[in-house]
Amino acid sequence: MKILVHICCAPDAVYFLKRLREDYHNAEIIGFFYDPNIHPYEEYKLRLVETQRICKELGIELYEGDYEVESWLSFVKGYEEEPERGKRCSLCFDQRLIKSAQFAKEKGATHLTTTLLMSPKKDLLMLKESGERVCKDFGIDFLFLDYRKGGGTQEMFRLSREMEIYHQDYCGCVYGLLKQKKEKALWDLVSFGGRRPGSKEEKLFIKEIRLIVETELGLSCKEWEFSFLNWKLLLGKIEVEGKSIPSLVKPYSSSIRGVLKAEPVEKVGNTIYYNKGGLRILLKEKLEDEPVENIEGLCNPTFLVAKDYEPLLLKGRISALLQTEISYDQSLILLVGSQEADEIYAIPADTLQDGRGISLAFAIELLESNAKDIALGRKAYLFTGASSLGNPGLKYFKERTGRKAISLLCSQNF
Ligand code: SF4
Repeated sequence: MKILVHICCAPDAVYFLKRLREDYHNAEIIGFFYDPNIHPYEEYKLRLVETQRICKELGIELYEGDYEVESWLSFVKGYEEEPERGKRCSLCFDQRLIKSAQFAKEKGATHLTTTLLMSPKKDLLMLKESGERVCKDFGIDFLFLDYRKGGGTQEMFRLSREMEIYHQDYCGCVYGLLKQKKEKALWDLVSFGGRRPGSKEEKLFIKEIRLIVETELGLSCKEWEFSFLNWKLLLGKIEVEGKSIPSLVKPYSSSIRGVLKAEPVEKVGNTIYYNKGGLRILLKEKLEDEPVENIEGLCNPTFLVAKDYEPLLLKGRISALLQTEISYDQSLILLVGSQEADEIYAIPADTLQDGRGISLAFAIELLESNAKDIALGRKAYLFTGASSLGNPGLKYFKERTGRKAISLLCSQNF
C-alpha cells in the first residue's frame, strides 16, 4: 500500500501524519504540498516552509506541486462571492485533489488522502464526495479519515503549539480573506520591499532560518511571539519648486492631512523646522535610516534627507505628503541554541526602510561557522523581529528569560 497525502498546511498535517503512520504502519507514505489557492505568495511560502519542517521531523518525504495561481483562479471563476463551505470551496477541493491524484498515479500510489480532513472549518462530507469522485477517475482509492474526533482536534492544536508551528488566521484564498477581514485584508495582500516589522516576509525569514538550522545543522531552536505597536508607512513624499526630493521617514512620524505647504523657519543643528504641521527635516550625511537608538516614539512628521539638498530645502516652500498607520501587531523572536548559553547575540530579522538588513545566506553562514560553539552552549543567536522599531523583541526576550542579548548591530564586529 502506498499513500499519497495531499498537504494543505503544517498545523493540519502534524497530527494527521502521525496518526496515519500509526494506523498504516506497513504503508509507504509520501506528502504532496499542492495549494495554488493560497494568496499571496509569501503566505504560500510560509505554509510550505513549515510543512517542510514538520515532514523532516516526522521523516516523511515531501514533494511540492506547482504554484499555478492562474489555473486555480480560472477553476473557481464565477464563484468568487460564494461564502466559505459553498460551491467555490467544493471546486477548490476538486482542483487540488485532481492534481494530487494525478501525482499519486505518477508516483505509483494506490491511495490518496488529504490533511484538509483535519481542518476544523472544512465540510467533511464535501471533502469525502470530492475525494471519492476524483479518485474513481484515476483508478485509486480515497482514504476518508476522520481524525478530528476523539480529541484529535485538541491534540492537533497541542502538537502545533509544542512544535511552534505557524498558524494562519485565514483559509487561504483572496476571496475568503476579503470576506473575513474586509479592508484589513490589505496588509495580508501587500508585498513589502524588504522585511518590514510584523510582515509575512519577516516571519518567513525567521521560519526559513529555523528550517535550515533544525534540519541541516541539527541545532535546537525556540521561538516566542510578541506584540508591539507597529508603525507603517503608507505614503511619503516631499517636493520643493516642483522637484521631488529623495527622502525616508522617521519611524513613528505622524500623518499629514492632505498636502502640507510650509516654509522653513529655522535650522537647529541638522534639523530644519517648518512653520506648519510640526514638519521637520533631518539632514543626513547620506540618505539612510535612523539608528534604532534614535527612535523616540510617536513624533511630528519627520523626513530624512541627504545633506546635499540643504540649499534647495532652505530656499523655498515645501510641499509634503505623509500617510502612516499605527496598529497593534505580532512579531517573532527565534533563539538558535540554548537559553543558558554563555553569550547570546541578537541580530535583527527585519530590514530598515532603506532596505538594509542581513540576508538569509549571511545568517546561515554565521550559524554554520559557529555551530560548534552553539551546540556546546558557548554561544546562542537571537533573531529579533521588529528591531527597527526600537527593538521590542529584545526587551521581550529579556522579560521572558532574564537574559540580556548583545546586539550585534551596535557592536563593531558585525
Ligand atoms: S475559502 Fe479556502 S477552501 Fe474555500 S475556496 Fe478559498 S481557499 Fe479554497
